[in-house]
Amino acid sequence: MVHFVGAGPGAPDLITLRGAELLKQADVIIYAGSLVNPALLELARGDCEIHNSAKMTLEQVIAVMEQAEAVGRTTVRLHTGDPCVYGAIREQMDALDELGIPYDDVPGVSSFCGAAAALRAEYTLPGVSQSVIITRLAGRTPVPEAESLMSMASHGASMAVFLSSGMLDRVQEELLKGGAYTEDTPAALVYKATWPEEKTVRCTVGTLAQAGEEHGISKTALVLVGNFLDSPYEKSKLYDPSFTTEFREASR
Ligand code: SAH
Repeated sequence: MVHFVGAGPGAPDLITLRGAELLKQADVIIYAGSLVNPALLELARGDCEIHNSAKMTLEQVIAVMEQAEAVGRTTVRLHTGDPCVYGAIREQMDALDELGIPYDDVPGVSSFCGAAAALRAEYTLPGVSQSVIITRLAGRTPVPEAESLMSMASHGASMAVFLSSGMLDRVQEELLKGGAYTEDTPAALVYKATWPEEKTVRCTVGTLAQAGEEHGISKTALVLVGNFLDSPYEKSKLYDPSFTTEFREASR
């Protein structure tokens, strides 16, 4: 059996209890390179076989899983954050389906949640935005044209931009071309959220590239954008004293 496991954003105690238990029991661990905190590998048994997938192809990853399965061993495939976001898990799962190898998926704390925590921020402020756009700039992996950063930026929603901190000039340019954010719209760079070396830099859409340069942030970072970072908002109806909910009568 293969368990895909979300390692969380970095701090080793942000993996789920289930994920940690599977790591302790694993015969084989294949972890996703430098974005997984090596401290998590200390949970592994002394005789566990450990592979770093940064140095492997998809075929090699699958071959390790296949060999383990052939002798009844359990593999943990450890992905950063939550495996469902830019995890490239689908291609592994399809290969396992072809081989008839069973698997499951244990969610993790995605880095966009870790980054919001680092900033003590809420993406979904009433009166500001009720949506979070998770996206990226096109790099070697293309982005469908209808989802270009520019068109995503036309909503003015809260946004978390992955895999793009090495191209902050372009991020800034496309965010502005979208038309809904201005040079003054709040933005932030969060480097290695929840790691000991975490760095947060608050800036604006118009100063994103400059902020990245000044603080030496060009990888392993998220770009957060939107008025949720610094704007007046409305209080939630859920806790409003004059509002009746399923669980509470209004106070007047
Ligand atoms: N599955 C992961 C994302 C993998 S893609 C998740 O759910 O978070 C890798 C990208 O994620 C990086 O380029 C960076 O943009 C972002 N990332 C991963 N961990 C991060 C962290 N601790 N802090 C900031 N960004 C992070």
